[in-house]
Parts: sequence; C-alpha cells; structure tokens
Amino acid sequence: MRKGQVELITTGTELLLGAVVNTNASWLGQKLTNLGLRVTLQTTVPDGDAISDALTDSMSRHPDIIIISGGLGPTSDDVTRECVAQVCGLKLEYREDAELDLRQRFHDMGKVMTDNNLRQTYAPESSQLLKNEKGTAPGIWIPANDGRPHIFLVPGPPRELYWVYEQEIVPILQRVLSLPEMAVSTFTFFGASESSLAERVDGVLSSSGLEYGYCARIGEVDVRVVGPRQQVDEVLAEVKSLLPDFVCAQNHETLAEYTVNILESNKLVLTTAESCTGGMIATRITDVPGSSAVFKYGFVTYSNEAKVDMLGVDRQLIDSFGVVSEPVVITMAQCALNKSGANIAVAVTGEAGPLASPDSQPVGTVWVAWAMSNGKTYAKCLHYPKLSRGDIRYRVSQEALIGICKLANGMNF
Ligand code: ATP
Ligand code: MG
Repeated sequence: MRKGQVELITTGTELLLGAVVNTNASWLGQKLTNLGLRVTLQTTVPDGDAISDALTDSMSRHPDIIIISGGLGPTSDDVTRECVAQVCGLKLEYREDAELDLRQRFHDMGKVMTDNNLRQTYAPESSQLLKNEKGTAPGIWIPANDGRPHIFLVPGPPRELYWVYEQEIVPILQRVLSLPEMAVSTFTFFGASESSLAERVDGVLSSSGLEYGYCARIGEVDVRVVGPRQQVDEVLAEVKSLLPDFVCAQNHETLAEYTVNILESNKLVLTTAESCTGGMIATRITDVPGSSAVFKYGFVTYSNEAKVDMLGVDRQLIDSFGVVSEPVVITMAQCALNKSGANIAVAVTGEAGPLASPDSQPVGTVWVAWAMSNGKTYAKCLHYPKLSRGDIRYRVSQEALIGICKLANGMNF
C-alpha cells in the first residue's frame, strides 16, 4: 500500500496575529515531501476549540494523514487533546505511564510539578503516546480506523515538534505507509541555459516517471528529481552522462564551493589576475570557508599600469594588441602564476561598460585565460553586448570559476 496525502493543522493565535512565523508548517512541508508524501492543505487556527471545525473539515476530505501542532500544553487554552477526542468520538483516558514520565521529568529538572500538568497524562482511547524528550507534553498518534485517517498531535514549540516528528512519527509513517526511502536530489549544471539543457535531458527525465523540475539562475541551472532514492540516483547519473561538457555540483553546492573543493582535492593553489571583474572572482572564492587552503593571493589590475607594474605584463604587448586581447590575458595569467607561486591561474581583461573605452573593444567583450604551472593554457573571448555592467561582471566571474573547475578536472573547454 502506498498512500501519501497529508493535511496540516497548526494552532496558535500568535501565528494568525503574525507575532510568530509559522515555521512548523514550512518545516513539516519540507520533511514530509522528502519522505515522498504530499501536503495537500495547511490550515492555521487560533487557540481554543476552532480546532474542532478544522479537523472535521479536514476529515471530510479523506487525507491519509492529519498532523495537528500545538495546544498540548498544561494551560486552559491548550485544548487540542479534548477537541480531537470529541471529533473522533473517542473518550479521553488516563495514562499512568504518562504520569510516571512526567513526574520523572520534573524530578530530573529539580522542579515541582503543578497539578495542571496532569492534563498531559490523558489521551484518546486507542491512541498511542509519542515520546517527547524536549518537553513535557507527549505527542499522540491515533491510528487510522474505519475511514478515519491517521491523526498525529504534536507539541507547538518547534524543537519539541522536530524531535517528536523525527524520532517518533517518521518510523510510524514508514511502517504504516510502507514508504520506500525517498530522496530529493539536485544537480546544478554551471554555464548551462535552461532551454538547451532541457532539450538534452527532458526525454530521460519525463520517461523516468519521477517528479522533476528545473530552476535557472544566472549562468547555472538546477535539475531536481524527487522519488525513491535508488531511481533518483540512477536517473540523475544518466542526466549527468548526457551533459559531460558541464561542470556539475550536487545538492546545492555553489559554484565557488565546488571550485574550492575541486582545487583542494587536486592539491591546487589558485591565483587571480582581474581587470574588469575587480576582485569579484577572488571574493567568490574567499566567501567559501576554508578557501585559504587553495587561495593565497590575487591581483586586481584595473589599469594598464597595474598590469605592467604588479604583474609584469610587457607594455609593448598592450600597445600592440590592445589591453582586451588574447596575448595580454594569457600573459596576465602566466605572470600571476610566476608572481604568486600558485599552480593554477585565471586572468580577466574586458570592457564591462556602460561606456566603451576609446580604441578598445565593444562593451561586453571580455577575454579570460586559464593557465597551469604545467604549461596548459586556455583562453576564451566572451561577448555580452546587451548586458548591464553588473551582469557582465558576474557572468565573467562565473565563466572564470567554471574554467578553473574544467582545467582542474581535466575536462574539455
Ligand atoms: P506549550 O506547552 O508551550 O503550551 P503547546 O504544545 O501547547 O506547548 P503551543 O501553545 O501551540 O504549543 O505553542 C507554544 C509555542 O511554540 C508558541 O508560543 C510559539 O512560540 C511556538 N509555536 C507554536 N506553533 C508554532 C509554529 N507553527 N511555528 C513556529 N512556532 C510555533
Ligand atoms: Mg500551549
């Protein structure tokens, strides 16, 4: 049997007032989706007996599972237990084990238990108490019966809810719904555009029968697949094999994080020589914690003088070919290697606009070069004639990082 529609009812007047953000609903949504279930409705009701109508409505839609959070505490506004028992036509019964647990907990905390806490020792007949190691109110599971769905009651305080859900509810759901191990996996393809990527892999994804989606950002596209883990892994491996020319990271690793990891695992130290990106490549690298293992220093050489003085580029080379040119960018990369002692370098020189410099290339023309101390060198001319200055600079830094990964991975340019 494989089912999976879930409705969530979150209780708490403070949620409706906007005083507390309903993180329980978003957290549960994510976790239940990861299990392969579908949250089909979320309802939020104030403290008090509004829960009864919400539960009656929910049951009339016949979901497989209803999860209700909040209102299990000791105070008079905590009435979830009573309302749910009444709607389900179940008596509340005293649970001795709950009282023993509760007394032990207060004893361990060195506190005196007030009598109102004893409300937490009652549960609907035929329900099962769920341990709550983070608080005093146990959760409750009312197993499905006679057309009634499984109903779970969980405490509202997030840390208690997280614990009860992970430790108690997930094993029950896996058992009663016979769930296979589910996965949500994402591959990010850097340098790809959504339409051309989809053209190459949509056939494989759609014929897999799994749920999938794309998410495009500047200079990269995510492919997300949801389903039983083994199938997800197989489909994504096939997708990846169809796109061998793209640098690809898994499960939301950023390009900069991926770059730092690749450099580190190949024992490479990077240096940068940046003109129009003005240090953006170095910034993206050094944003990553631990980047000091792979990055010692870079050069921001914005003017011709800086390229000559800091890097040692021959002034005549600039005069002969222009500063935005293949010979100059390759020389920048090689000079950066020599000056820094690094073993992989990226260099950039271009026109980010909005105004073109006299006697130079059109706005959006950028040369990038990558060089390794073993002599391997690549250069590429990028053209972004219609982009803004900010977008040009970001896309160039993206291409620069992608090239570093390709060179480090031994991939084709
Ligand atoms: P208590 O014993 O604290 O009364 P309870 O199970 O009755 O526990 P609630 O009264 O609903 O839980 O909530 C207790 C606190 O937990 C609220 O004051 C609020 O700060 C937080 N909380 C409740 N629901 C949510 C939610 N959906 N998202 C985030 N925080 C919540
Ligand atoms: Mg409460």
